[in-house]
Formats: sequence, structure tokens, C-alpha cells
Amino acid sequence: MEGRRGEFTDENNNVYNYCQRSYSNVRQNEPGSDTSLREHIVSYQTESFHFLQDMGMIPKSTHCSDCNRSMNWNFSGTVDLFEWICPGCRKSCPIKQCSPLEDIDCSYDKILGVIWAWCNSEEIDKTAFKFGIESKTVMNIFSIAGLAAEKHITRYTSQWNIGGPGVIVLIDTFPETFLSGSRQSNRPILCLAELKGFPLTILFHPLQTELGNQENAIEVMKMQCQSFIRDFVHPESAVVARRNAFFCSYEDISLNQPQFNVLASDQGLLKHESVGRNLHSILSTIWEEAVYVCMDAQYYPHHLVQSFLFSHMWKNKYNNSAYPLILKEISSMVKEGSFMLQKKMK
Ligand SMILES: [Zn+2]
Repeated sequence: MEGRRGEFTDENNNVYNYCQRSYSNVRQNEPGSDTSLREHIVSYQTESFHFLQDMGMIPKSTHCSDCNRSMNWNFSGTVDLFEWICPGCRKSCPIKQCSPLEDIDCSYDKILGVIWAWCNSEEIDKTAFKFGIESKTVMNIFSIAGLAAEKHITRYTSQWNIGGPGVIVLIDTFPETFLSGSRQSNRPILCLAELKGFPLTILFHPLQTELGNQENAIEVMKMQCQSFIRDFVHPESAVVARRNAFFCSYEDISLNQPQFNVLASDQGLLKHESVGRNLHSILSTIWEEAVYVCMDAQYYPHHLVQSFLFSHMWKNKYNNSAYPLILKEISSMVKEGSFMLQKKMK
């Protein structure tokens, strides 16, 4: 299985590298109506299209909604290159129909490039500039990647669990986290850090702030913290949280999560010799990266905050396999048709 996964990774990376190379070659040439350049673009666009089809991100077959015949695909002369056409009634429809990419109006190689950028948590505007496309298009692709990651995490929660017998898990909430003092933020983010191995595994969970002026909004957000901790932290972990923290304090966890055998507050650490004191002294260093990620998240449009945080978690967990694995997740959305349901609900 491991070997097969390796093959999968190499294969996809090769194709991606090919796309990148071709893209830079095209950029280096003078733009214009040069026929050979145009042919070159079309040929590698076609290759990107076939790659997306082979991955399953664009369906390979479809049926006419009018006469139920199996449809063929033809050159369309648009950015999509092809369209489905019915051999019976000649009805045509977009080649990306039934794919989450259906509404994305940029070339296939750029779609792949933007998904790569998501895996590396690159900025929206920089990505848009790099590929010469609108920020809105980048946001739409980031949103699809975020949705695919969310589906994966929801389905395989146990794979994303952190902690374990004797493993220390730190819990805090941005913007109150150790380094950032008591700054205000409209977008508080629960952060869980597992002190095992390197790089540290950090889970982020933005708290739902669109609760209007509900009197119990703060209570609901506090409950969200407890529910996330219950789902993602192994019950035998040694948990450290801050006393009197606003959204998720040492006291809240003691009250709601009796499963943790060892629970310490930040101040409690000081009572322990060496290990406890040492840990206390490096808390702000441990949280440093998480704080930067949370600060960056504040600049994202509301609907993309979660996607941005997922991109960090995804890269952190899957490293070199992050890119092929997110492509695979997007493909599984096509197989399940799950995004179609969401489109209908919008
Ligand atoms: Zn037809």
C-alpha cells in the first residue's frame, strides 16, 4: 500500500511539474497570436484536461438529459476546450458538468496551480497575480479544496486525533494565546497543539461568530470548543490549558472533560520541577507559529477562514503528499456527487 501511494505521489508530481514547466515556457515567450505558441498552449492545456479527467475531477462520460444517450465530447473553442454533445438531439452541455470545477472559468493548468497554492497556504491576491486570473476565481478554487479537506476530516476524524497516553496537548484560543496577550478579535480560533514529534501537530478550529446578537452567543462558542476537544483529543492525553481563559479555560475543561487523567493549568506547570517549569518557559515559542497562522486567517474573507486553516493542517499532516491527496479528495466529491447537493442548497 505504501509503495502504491508513493507511485501515486510521484506520478502526480510529475504531471504537476510538467504543467509548471510548460506554463513558464509560455510566459517567457512573447504573447500574441503566434500560431505555434497557440498550438503549444492548446496541447498542454489538453494534457492538463486529460490529467484532471484521469484523476476523476472531471467526469469521463455523461448522458443527455433530454434523450438519455451517451454524449460525446468535441472541441468547443472556449477556455474549457471541450463540451459534451449529444449524437442524437445535438444538445450540448459544459464538459465540467457534474464536477465541483464546473463554475471555475480558467484554464486547467491554472486550476491545478491554484490547488497547489492552497496546499502551500499561499495568499489569494498573490496567487491571482501569479496566474493572471481574478481573485474571485482563486477564492472559488480555495473554497473547493477547503470543502474537500473538511469532508475528509469529518469522515476520518480518528486519523486526525491528537494526543494519546501521556502525550501533552496544549489548548488555547486566539487571540488570547500566550504570545498575543489579550488582543480583541472578531474571529477567535481554538488551537490545539500536540507535543509529539516535529513539526508539532496543531489543529485549528474557528469559532462560529455569525450567531447574531444572540444572548447566548458566547456560551455557544464555548460549547463549540468543548465539542471539538471531545472529538479530536485522545482521552488519555495530558492536557494543559490556561486558567481563566475566556473561551476555553482550564476550569471549563475540568468541568466538561472528565476523561482526561492529567490536566494542568499554565500556572500549575510551575509547581512541577524541571519538566513543568521548562514547558512553561517555552509556551510562547510553541504557540508562535499558531499565532501567526491565526493572524493571517483574520485577513481572509469569512467563508474562507476555515479553508485557510485546513490548508495549514493538511500540509502539516501530509507534507509531500498534500497535493495529490487533496486532488484525490476533490475527485471523490465528483464520485459521490456531494457538492451537487450543496449547490442545490445554496
Ligand atoms: Zn440528446
